[in-house]
Amino acid sequence: MNSGGIIDRIRHEMGRRRRMSPRLLILSSVVTVLGFSAVCGSIMLEMRRNAQELARQTQENLASTISADINRTIELYDLSLRSAVSSLALPQLSQVDDAIRRLILFDHAATAPHFGAIQVFDARGDLTIDSASRTPDKTNRGAEPYFTVQRDQPDHGLYISSPMQHRGAYSIVLSRRVSGPDGQFRGIVAGSIRFSYFQEVFSRLRLAPQDVIAVIARDGTLIMRTPFSADLLGSNVMAKIGMNAVLSQRRGWFSGHGKLDAIARMYVWADSTRPLVVLVGKSWNDVFAMWRAEAIRIGLILLGLAVIVAGFTVFFIREIDRRAEAERRLEELATTDALTGLTNRRKFDIAIDREWRRAARSNAPIALMIIDADHFKAFNDSYGHQAGDQVLVGIALCIGDTVQRAGDCAARFGGEEFAVLLPGLNATAAQAMAETIREKVELWSGGQAGVTVSIGVASMTPNPAQHWSVLFEAADKALYAAKDLGRNRCVVAASRSDLTLVA
Ligand code: GH3
Ligand code: MG
Ligand code: MG
Repeated sequence: MNSGGIIDRIRHEMGRRRRMSPRLLILSSVVTVLGFSAVCGSIMLEMRRNAQELARQTQENLASTISADINRTIELYDLSLRSAVSSLALPQLSQVDDAIRRLILFDHAATAPHFGAIQVFDARGDLTIDSASRTPDKTNRGAEPYFTVQRDQPDHGLYISSPMQHRGAYSIVLSRRVSGPDGQFRGIVAGSIRFSYFQEVFSRLRLAPQDVIAVIARDGTLIMRTPFSADLLGSNVMAKIGMNAVLSQRRGWFSGHGKLDAIARMYVWADSTRPLVVLVGKSWNDVFAMWRAEAIRIGLILLGLAVIVAGFTVFFIREIDRRAEAERRLEELATTDALTGLTNRRKFDIAIDREWRRAARSNAPIALMIIDADHFKAFNDSYGHQAGDQVLVGIALCIGDTVQRAGDCAARFGGEEFAVLLPGLNATAAQAMAETIREKVELWSGGQAGVTVSIGVASMTPNPAQHWSVLFEAADKALYAAKDLGRNRCVVAASRSDLTLVA
């Protein structure tokens, strides 16, 4: 193979590799963007987890603080009830004056702003002593749960009622049992805590509009709630949302939808061992508000980056395409004969090398014809070089008109010589084609001072050890023979290794 062939081969290889690069560029851009997205995604997920954990801790602390406050108040009030219960057991109590008796029974708790009067009821439920009045009303509470529970369950301890409305205001009633020396039921001591107490506790907090705080008994009954809702008071809200079981854990959280507004919230409770449990709910919207703003910001930055990367990728791909196109045009120019538009010798060398080896592999014939204008020097001398060029273009047209199969290669070989490569053709077929070309030229140039061509034809089925120059020499010899035999004719070289010429 000559050096031109090697250079062409290298250029071809480089071109092939360069065509791969747009795909590689797209792949690397996609991988870069996906990589960035994955990193940012995992950071954002981590931030989301942190936001949730922070909210849980904050809510738990809030629930714990409110719970401590409320339950301490309950305990204080319960202390007053228990003190009254133990004082009622004193035998001397019945002997003292009513004012002194009330002084002994009731401490100052009953006069605190949010506490109602402490009252003593006998075993039938009749009011007997009232901390707020020297003459207790004739009233009977024997049917109230805070009475019946203490009567029927001697070991119940402190009883906390569901919310009750009394003169337009809500309160809860706390009761304790009064027992005789042998344990028989003698009545109850009861008192109330007004809802104004809970309202004061809640008013000290700065809550978001969708925040919810619920005070519930340990059986799940709603005692108080902010925002206030009279409809839900006294109902078993935990059972309604299927979360009664969670209070069996001391502290924890769950995700649920509000019964009133269907807002999804994180609900946290801090201590379920106390008489009243505080459940704090924060909407998931609020929990993730800051995170969401941050995620949108990062997402937009990422989108911007992706757009920039995509823009650069498109720009570079266009550049690569433009260069490839320019190279393809250059290549075309470098492999085309300027005068006739036929393939030039360099490209013909590559074609014959490739087709020769392919024919050797597939054990198929390959034909070659070499075409030479007759007495062209004389023509030039008579009509001038320009007219000679016109004739060369005419001959090229006659060749191009005849040679049209894909894979055939017609080339201007130099000067007034042409070569045509015909893969797959045997000598007979190639000769027929050569004869057609010769006739066309003769016919066409009838008015042009009789330009004719001589054609040498050779066809071989190559064996792998042979070089295509064998075929070339055979065709060349046949051309010489045609010239010797008087020109304007086709001569075929025999397709045997002795290359005998047949006219
Ligand atoms: P023969 O029949 O033996 O081939 O005679 P010939 O005159 O064609 O042969 P020779 O090789 O002696 O002359 C070739 C001539 O072809 C020489 C040159 O004037 C002419 N020629 C070569 N290239 C070109 C070209 O590009 N344009 C023109 N007009 N003439 C060319
Ligand atoms: Mg010549
Ligand atoms: Mg010639």
